[in-house]
Amino acid sequence: MEDEGAFDGIEPGGVTPTEAFSLLGNETRISILQTLWEDEESMSFSDLQCAVGVDKGNFNYHLNELSHFVRRGEEGYELRETGKQVIRAVLAGVITDVPELDPVPIGRPCPFCGSGISLRYEDETMMASCESCAGTSGGDLPRGVFMSIDGFPPAGLAGRSLPEVLEVAHLLFEASAATMAQGVCPECSARAETELLVCEEHEIVSDGLCEACGRVPEILVEFTCRNCGTASRPVLWMPAIYHPAAVALFYERWGFDTFRELQRLFFTNPGYVEGISEEVVSTDPLRVRVEFPAETGRLGLTFDEAFDVVEIERPG
Ligand SMILES: [Zn+2]
Ligand SMILES: [Zn+2]
Ligand SMILES: [Zn+2]
Repeated sequence: MEDEGAFDGIEPGGVTPTEAFSLLGNETRISILQTLWEDEESMSFSDLQCAVGVDKGNFNYHLNELSHFVRRGEEGYELRETGKQVIRAVLAGVITDVPELDPVPIGRPCPFCGSGISLRYEDETMMASCESCAGTSGGDLPRGVFMSIDGFPPAGLAGRSLPEVLEVAHLLFEASAATMAQGVCPECSARAETELLVCEEHEIVSDGLCEACGRVPEILVEFTCRNCGTASRPVLWMPAIYHPAAVALFYERWGFDTFRELQRLFFTNPGYVEGISEEVVSTDPLRVRVEFPAETGRLGLTFDEAFDVVEIERPG
């Protein structure tokens, strides 16, 4: 059902993506944006021209071309939000750097089998994979991957050790999944959709993957934004750990009091992940259940096809 008064879509009224890219394809214009960013305050025409260092006629022309990114306020010229976003993308290294990281062991155990794990980074994707088991992902991902985060900015690598990079990747994943699960795309703020993907003929064969779906897990949660294409497909229990009943369990059991449950479940409580179970309770209507081990039994959360909790079984 459409919400009352919902927008039908946005009338752009500004520039097309092609125009936006071509407007920015010029050194003087990027230099104007950078100067305004660094200065933080509004700048007069002459101060800005002096800082950018080109002749007046040229400068005037380029400044006019940037009206979508720069505004003239009462105090002088300043960046619009669009201009700030361009500079933030540059600072995140997304546009300027293309680092790659061959798989490096990081001295942490695989949460599923206890073997070593390694990190690799390519095409702005951070992947953590197990050196011996099939991980969780399957599909198009290399064997052993159990976490893959697209759009991990190169700036996230700078000045951090590899275990710290893994923590950052987990935090980004958690923040993104928590937002997507509420129906909001964290990248563009458009509506995000949630769907459960269930393999109906799931059977793990000798290489650790299911022949029918090519993955390890039978159930995945798929979060998708149709506007910008942001998507993630965690195993069911990962976003399930943010249900208040699960947060309460982890708080009681280990004193988790920060937004880092996933990280701590994975690496400070080896073996716990193996005790988490997932099952398809019914297919029509679709109901899936996750169970987390508790000291006095198990916490069961049953979800419907939209990933809403429809039943909670408390331990003990
Ligand atoms: Zn493993
Ligand atoms: Zn399958
Ligand atoms: Zn989006």
